[in-house]
Formats: sequence, structure tokens, C-alpha cells
Amino acid sequence: IKKIGVLTSGGDAPGMNAAIRAAVRAGFYYGLEMYGIYRGYEGMIQNDIKKLDSKNITHVLERGGTFLKSARSEEFRTPEGRKKAYENLKSHGIDALVVIGGDGSLTGAHLFYQEYGIPAVGLPGTIDNDLSGTDLTIGFDTACNTAIEAIDKIRDTATSHDRLFFVEVMGRDAGFIAINAGVGSAAAAILIPERKTPIETLVEKLKTRTKAKKSSNIVIVAEGGKSGSAQEIADKVAKYLPYYDIKVTILGHLQRGGAPTCFDRLLASKLGVAAVEGLMQGKYDVMAGLINNKVVYTPIVKAIVGDKEIDEEDLRVANILST
Ligand code: ATP
Repeated sequence: IKKIGVLTSGGDAPGMNAAIRAAVRAGFYYGLEMYGIYRGYEGMIQNDIKKLDSKNITHVLERGGTFLKSARSEEFRTPEGRKKAYENLKSHGIDALVVIGGDGSLTGAHLFYQEYGIPAVGLPGTIDNDLSGTDLTIGFDTACNTAIEAIDKIRDTATSHDRLFFVEVMGRDAGFIAINAGVGSAAAAILIPERKTPIETLVEKLKTRTKAKKSSNIVIVAEGGKSGSAQEIADKVAKYLPYYDIKVTILGHLQRGGAPTCFDRLLASKLGVAAVEGLMQGKYDVMAGLINNKVVYTPIVKAIVGDKEIDEEDLRVANILST
């Protein structure tokens, strides 16, 4: 392997820049040529590919977003699109890829390897933490920190007015952000996609807390929950608790932005180096992750199955602390 292309794809996540920078630095360390593929697979198809030098990666470690930009590419899902992408890679002599993104992006890398034999190591770049093969994904810790910072501010106004707030956090199919941000901000209840919470159960909990004279109640709702959106749940609860002043806040895209935390910088740095070293050692079609603080390479097909479980212990602790 002599020339490696790096790309970020799917939803952006804080720490993607740190991962790119680590992969590129590691490549230079081992005497390889490194290429930036801009706008994910879309840029691969449109030949938006440039050779990187050390200037490209100066002062990017600490910045949120991704300087390579990210995109979703419908064309890459088609055999014709992938053929164009392959021809562009060949024209630059790129013989391996580091793909930083979520399960969709890694699925693309796996297919591309199967069809064209382009070796790829994937890195888990998503705030959702919904990839197996790594304890945590790049961007998740920063997103949780951003969420608790915002919820702390909501807490101030909730307490001043004895209000009940429903705060919607990201996590369409996974409640990891909701649980961490909920426990980390003393939420009254946490609603996640993995569990169905009957409205009556939630109402009973809120009534008990009212009797205990809690001055504020914040319920965290993951955006894709089975019980509905934060607004829908708030509307239902309002019928049971008409005496409450209820407000809804959707944190939305602010959870994607901001400088990565120290943890995300370290995770991205370790995995960026691991991606290049993995390729050099012939580890293809795998995702590099960190499990118990050790780098582990998991076949992409296993990392993307979506079987990462919510920790029951986290749920138990959340329940004890909010009762
Ligand atoms: P996030 O977790 O933030 O949603 P993601 O990587 O899962 O990130 P997707 O939109 O699912 O985001 O995938 C990103 C891109 O990966 C898609 O736009 C497409 O170009 C490519 N991709 C996803 N699934 C496939 C597939 N089955 N075949 C080929 N390419 C795919």
C-alpha cells in the first residue's frame, strides 16, 4: 500500500477532523502518500480528490465538523456510481481507504471492497454510538457533553419557574446520548427507542416527584422513541397534569457541533493511527474500535449489525437516581 484516500461520510461528528489528522500523520510517518476525498462518496464519484500535505492538517485536531466535508451519496448506492468512484481512485493510484462515518458509510466501504477489492479500514464516526466493535464512537462523548451543558441551562430556568421540561436529544435508533445526558443532568425520566415507556408510568413518576416537592423536572426524550417525539409526549402528559407549566426544547443540530472533548480527541487519534497501521498489516474490510482501551479490528459486517445493547446497569442507576 502506497497511497491512502481518507474520507468522512454520513452525519458529521466532532472528532472527525482529529481522526483525519491522525490517519494522515500516521501515513506520513510510514512514508505513504495521503489523499483527501472531499464530500464522502459523492466526492469520490465526482473526482473531488486532492493530495494532502502537512499544512492541510494543521490546526484541525481541535475543530468540530470535518474539513474534508461530509455528504450522503445516492449515486454510490448504485453499481454505476461505484464504478465511477473506482475509476477515479485508480486515476490517482489510490490503493486503500480510511472511511470515517456511521453504519451506512461503513456498509459502502464493505461493498466497495467486495466489488473492487479496494482495502478499507472504517472508523466509527457518529455521535449516536450505535456501532458494535467499539465501546464508544468518535463524537459521542462531545455530543453528550454538549447536551448536558444545554440541559444545565434549561434546569436554571425550569427551577426558577417550577416548570416541567421535555428535552429532545439526538439518537434516532439508539438511546445512548439520552441515557448519558439524562444521568449526567439528573433527569426525572429518560425515554429511549429501545424501551417503550407507557405514558401512565411517566405520569406516575412525575406525580411522585411533585409530591416530593422537586422544584424542576426535566424529561429527556431520544428523538426516535417508540413513545413519540418530545412534543407528542408533552401533549399527552399535559392532559394528565394540567397544573404544570410544560415546555419542550429540541436540542437538534447543536449536538453535532463544537470542539471535540479530550476523550474524543484521544479516541480519534488512536483510531486514526490504527486505521493506517491496520491497512499496512493487511487488515481489510474491518472497523478499528477501542474496547477496554485496546484497539480492536472488527469485520465491518459485524460492526454494522446494530446489536449494540443499552447497558442495563445504566438504566438501573438512572431509575434509582430519579425516584
Ligand atoms: P449516520 O450514523 O450519521 O447516519 P451513516 O454513515 O450511517 O452516518 P448514511 O446516510 O446511512 O450515514 O450513509 C452515508 C453514505 O454511505 C450514503 O449516503 C451512501 O453514499 C453510503 N451508503 C450507505 N449505505 C450504503 C449501501 N448499502 N451501499 C452503498 N453505499 C451505501
